[in-house]
Amino acid sequence: MNHDDLRHWSKRAADWTHAYHTGLRDRPVRAQTTPGATAARLPDHPPEQPEDLEAIFADFEAIVPDAMTHWQHPRFFAYFPSNAAPASMLAEQLTNAISAMCMLWQTSPAATEIEQVMVQWLRQALGLAPHFTGTIHDSATTCTLSAVITMRDRATGWDSVQNGITGRAPIRIYASAQTHSSIDKSVRLAGIGQGNLVKVATEPDFGMDPAALDAAIRADLQAGLLPAGVVLCTGGTSIGACDPIAACLEVAKRHGLYAHVDAAWAGNAMICPEFRHLWEGVDGADSVVFNPYKGLGAQFDGAVQFLADPAPQIRSMGLRPDYLQTLGHEDITNFNEWTVPLGRRFRALKLWFLLRAYGLEGLREKMRNHIAWTAELADKFRTNPDFRITTEPCLALFTFQYAPADADADALTERLLKRINDDGRIYLTQTTHEGRFVIRMTAGTFDCTREDVMTVYDVATELAQTLQGSFIRP
Ligand SMILES: *Cc1c(COP(=O)(O)O)cnc(C)c1O
Repeated sequence: MNHDDLRHWSKRAADWTHAYHTGLRDRPVRAQTTPGATAARLPDHPPEQPEDLEAIFADFEAIVPDAMTHWQHPRFFAYFPSNAAPASMLAEQLTNAISAMCMLWQTSPAATEIEQVMVQWLRQALGLAPHFTGTIHDSATTCTLSAVITMRDRATGWDSVQNGITGRAPIRIYASAQTHSSIDKSVRLAGIGQGNLVKVATEPDFGMDPAALDAAIRADLQAGLLPAGVVLCTGGTSIGACDPIAACLEVAKRHGLYAHVDAAWAGNAMICPEFRHLWEGVDGADSVVFNPYKGLGAQFDGAVQFLADPAPQIRSMGLRPDYLQTLGHEDITNFNEWTVPLGRRFRALKLWFLLRAYGLEGLREKMRNHIAWTAELADKFRTNPDFRITTEPCLALFTFQYAPADADADALTERLLKRINDDGRIYLTQTTHEGRFVIRMTAGTFDCTREDVMTVYDVATELAQTLQGSFIRP
């Protein structure tokens, strides 16, 4: 295959893409396949001789789409959205065509500078203070890992950068139990250890209790441990819990701790001023992450980390060996010094296309619609006595149970969820809330309509009928 062939096949791929997206509603949302089924359709050995593109493309069409869960399906309501706007897909084709490594300004001047400008555009879009700068990582996990590594080294007075953390007082990180498992993973990877992640108690609204945070830090200081940083969440993954950012930051600052805010999903909603009360005080944070692929439509990968001051993170992670020096330029930005990997993709291009093709007003309208339709759906469930809203909507997320009188609601809800996902018209996932099995409902696919969201009520009530009587307690 050469570049003339690529031109031909790119057009074929574009036609396929159009047919795929316009036909998504006719497909089951979740892959209807079994483990091992796809692998069994592939040969055991790689081909020795080149194969014809017709055959390769035909196999793609025959094997792949039916064995995928369709994240861009308008009735995908599981996990969090990983939504993709057409303008973002187009930019990714161009990024792919250029295929540059964007680790130094010199290796990718336009990518570096567009990334700097997009971070500033997004900072303004989210209403963050002008002192924030930032960078674009692959995922929120990497942003949080970067922040946790910075907390660790800062707490040791940067001695750990050279000497590691063995033989010193345990480093302590604080977060609520509502924060994402990426915090747990980050403390493991940073060598701090899961046992030194303190899960701080929450208040009745499931946000962190600032007094409990203060008490935990004091107790650790008393015990000779080394408090290093706090990870707060705006929009926790399970039910959308929000920590009281201003009050918790006040505690963190009083103890001189570094503070990172994980708003991977909810940060997207901050393009609308009316939701910014959810992270009131965020301008006091040292680091803030949000994933534009969880709502704005800039497809994975890409996570924006805003930094009040990039210097501490660069001090932890920035290396500049001789072969990466840019001779004659001391003051340029080399983004690999801000991030974990050396090689970096040109992720800013899709943000540039996205923000221009829809405008902030266009994106706000989508966000407001998803949130309003989700609230309307919750109200619909509320009118049905067989269903129970277990957590109220936070932005476009709520949880519910199927709980007819006298029934074992956990078992029945689990049965209903399985039936819903086997049916295929919609896709929902679960979480455990206060020990109960609940269904999570969240909207956010770029092409999702009000009718798509209301389908959830119709499908859930229709399939619930088929379970009636099967799980009544004796
Ligand atoms: C999705 C999510 C993450 C993880 O995001 P990745 O980009 O997949 O690493 C972390 N925190 C929260 C709150 C999330 O919703």
